[in-house]
Amino acid sequence: MSLDVAGLGVVPAPHGPGRRRSAAELESLAHEASVRFADASAEEVLAWASETFGDCLVVACSMAGDTVVPHLAARHRPGVDVLFLQTGYHFPETIGTRDALEATTDVTIVDVWPVQTVAQQDATFGEQLHDRDPRQCCGLRKVEPINRELASYEAWVTGLRREDSPLRADTPLVEWDTAHQMVKINPIAAWTFDEQVAYAGTHGVPINLLLTEGYPSIGCAPCTRPVAPGEDPRAGRWAGLAKTECGLHVTKTHPEEDQ
Ligand code: SF4
Repeated sequence: MSLDVAGLGVVPAPHGPGRRRSAAELESLAHEASVRFADASAEEVLAWASETFGDCLVVACSMAGDTVVPHLAARHRPGVDVLFLQTGYHFPETIGTRDALEATTDVTIVDVWPVQTVAQQDATFGEQLHDRDPRQCCGLRKVEPINRELASYEAWVTGLRREDSPLRADTPLVEWDTAHQMVKINPIAAWTFDEQVAYAGTHGVPINLLLTEGYPSIGCAPCTRPVAPGEDPRAGRWAGLAKTECGLHVTKTHPEEDQ
């Protein structure tokens, strides 16, 4: 989703160092690495990513179960930038997890803000846009802000896991991200939820307390409900609405996520 935010307010400057390689060079690196690391461990792929991209490597974290990813990345690149989308609609537990991660892990949390506050968005588009047009709300509060930030890095690390959703069942460890024209690294793609929790326990990584209260997937509070045992882990996201993804993760096989 591309979004024209001109006229809505001042667009914050991106935090990253700026790209040094061309899109063609990055695409070539992605394709080589996708083969080389097809069955690699998270440690192996992150060691390569840190050495290859240096400060042009960034982690995106939702502060749910994926806090293990910044911790893993920081073992290879201390102080690595970690993008956190400050949507203005988070659960208090999510903000608490963000603060705990910052206090306990050698990472640099980069709070990524939308152009408008929630109050400004309400004034422009009307209240509770998330109920009336969640695609536009996600576009304004998630997609435009992360697109803006990712443009100043060469590779991003995500917490996508194959078991999260049928749409994610084929997630590779490394791929070419066509939408963002950069390398995308999914080091825990093959991990189970239990492996995530075990890693967090072993290494003292803070995870979102809502995970143990029936929320296996955690987004903004107005758009997340707990799921019943046996339900798809993402069934609680935008429940009842014709939407399953926020638009951050567009793939060739699922271009509809970019709507
Ligand atoms: Fe808006 Fe809901 Fe998307 Fe958050 S998840 S940005 S509240 S539509």
